Parts: sequence; C-alpha cells; structure tokens
Amino acid sequence: MGVIGAGQMGSGIAHVFALAGYDVALHDRDEARMTAGLDTIEKNMLRQVSKDHFSRAEMKGAIERLSPAKSMEDLSDCDLVVEAATENTDVKKDIFRELCKTLKPDAIIGTNTSSISITALAAVTDRPDKFIGLHFMNPVPLMKLVEIIRGIATSNETFETCKALVEHLDKTMAMSEDFPGFIVNRILMPMINEAIYTLYEGVGTVDAIDTGMRLGANHPMGPLQLADFIGLDTCLAIMQVLYEGLADSKYRPCPLLVKYVEAGWLGRKTGRGFYDYSGDVPVATR
Ligand code: NAD
Repeated sequence: MGVIGAGQMGSGIAHVFALAGYDVALHDRDEARMTAGLDTIEKNMLRQVSKDHFSRAEMKGAIERLSPAKSMEDLSDCDLVVEAATENTDVKKDIFRELCKTLKPDAIIGTNTSSISITALAAVTDRPDKFIGLHFMNPVPLMKLVEIIRGIATSNETFETCKALVEHLDKTMAMSEDFPGFIVNRILMPMINEAIYTLYEGVGTVDAIDTGMRLGANHPMGPLQLADFIGLDTCLAIMQVLYEGLADSKYRPCPLLVKYVEAGWLGRKTGRGFYDYSGDVPVATR
C-alpha cells in the first residue's frame, strides 16, 4: 500500500493498513511531516496496546511493515495508493499526474478527499476506471466508517476490491454518489458552519455552543471542538466545494471561519483555533 500525505489522515490510514497486515510506504512532500507521521503512528499504537486493543507483538509487526517513501517513484510497485494530502484540487491533481508517471498500470488509486469531485480527480489520471474515493474518518484507527465514492468511470472490479478491503480493515462502508461533500460532509459541515455563524453573530460563546450541542443534542463533541479537530482549513475548503458545487448561498462559508484560516489558526494541528491548546486543557478563545 502507498499513502500520500502524512498528516492526521494519512498517518491514520497507514496505521490501519499496517495493522491489517499490509506493507505500507508513507510519502509526504515535507520530510519532517513524514517522520512526524511515523512517530504519531507509533505513539498511537502504544496507547492502543496499553488499552489491550492488540498485543505488543502485533504492534511490532505493524511497525516493521511501515516505511517512509522519499518520492512518489518509491510507490511504483504498490497495488493501491491512497492520497491524503491537503484538501486542494490543484494539489491533488498534481499529485495524481506525478504518481501515474511511475505507478504500475494495474494499481488502484484512492483519494481520501472530503469533498472534491472523484470524477474530476480521476480525469487527470491514466486510469479513471481504477480510481475511487476512500473517505476515512478522523481519527482513522477508532472510527468505523469508510465512505466509498464511485466516480462516473470507476469500474465494478475496483469498487468490489475496495469494498473487500474496507471489510478486511474491520470497518463499515457507506456508499455515496459523487456529489459535493458526499454524504457525511454534506450534512456535517453545514452544521459546523452554522455553529461558527452562531458564534460570529454573538448568539453564544464557544463554551455555550459546544455545551449546547453536547448535552442538548447528545453529540460526543461540540461542533467548534470538532471543527478544531478536523482542521479549520479543511472545514473551509469543504464549505467552498459545497458553495461552488451546489451553487446555493446556504453553503456560504462563515466570514469568521475565513478569518481564522487567514490568521493560520487552523485548530488543534496549529495549537489554536476556537480553543487554545497551549496549556494542559483546551481553553475557549471567545
Ligand atoms: P493535514 O494538513 O494534517 O495533512 C496534509 C498533509 O499533506 C501534510 O503533511 C502536507 O505536507 C501533505 N502534502 C501537501 N501537499 C503534498 C504533496 N504535493 N505531496 C505530498 N504530500 C503533500 O490534513 P489532513 O487532515 O490529514 O487531511 C488530508 C486529507 O484528508 C484532505 O483531503 C482532507 O479533506 C481529508 N480528510 C480530513 C479529515 C479530517 O478530519 N481532518 C477527515 C476525512 C478526510
């Protein structure tokens, strides 16, 4: 297996592939992120061992199956490559063009995009029939769902192979047609965006909004806490895809979300978003 992008999602996907017995090569254009991604996997696996999710020997085997890939050429022998780089159409298209130069012809390419058209991404490859959306959820080792999205040209064979893979990972699939945001983010992201509007318009504080939804709607996390967890750049990118793709003003990204992304306050991954993560416990910022 090859995984491109060693951020929150790519490292999680590499984690579950290695535990399921596959050899995994993890690539990131930023070498420091690649090393950090492999460190995160080890740290997360250790936590799972301490909770008896699997044995130390199983962890050792999984770690041995993981390796860094310095370039995309190093992924040329993979049977499946999953792309989990930044949520940006041009970034992803460039990756696929580059990958196809060396990837063996019968390999399948999956993308973990949260919202971008699978059909449009497939169209820049040399194998739209072997291209598919494999949308893992965050954090990948814990979340049961994988949304599978077929592009217009995805073959039945590719779909069946990926369906079997998801079962082998002990996860459950939900099939979505290829429309902006697919199923999960079409529903989840407007709720998060609305929570940010609620904050922007002064209806409630960060604490009040999150407490309201945790205790009032029985959500395990408040929407602003979840936005920080996902990454505010990713949330904004998904809202833009919904707004442009569905051409409906109800999807317009909240200006406060835009402002936070402009400031580089991207949530947990940068230490600040709707909460400040510099201390022992997250502190609401508004
Ligand atoms: P992230 O910012 O944590 O990681 C992105 C990684 O991609 C970074 O390490 C970056 O260096 C790397 N990258 C960027 N351009 C690259 C290139 N040209 N070649 C190789 N690597 C490159 O982001 P993330 O949260 O892991 O999101 C990755 C993808 O997963 C996005 O498409 C996102 O929409 C999707 N996704 C995110 C979540 C979530 O909750 N964060 C959930 C499901 C899907």
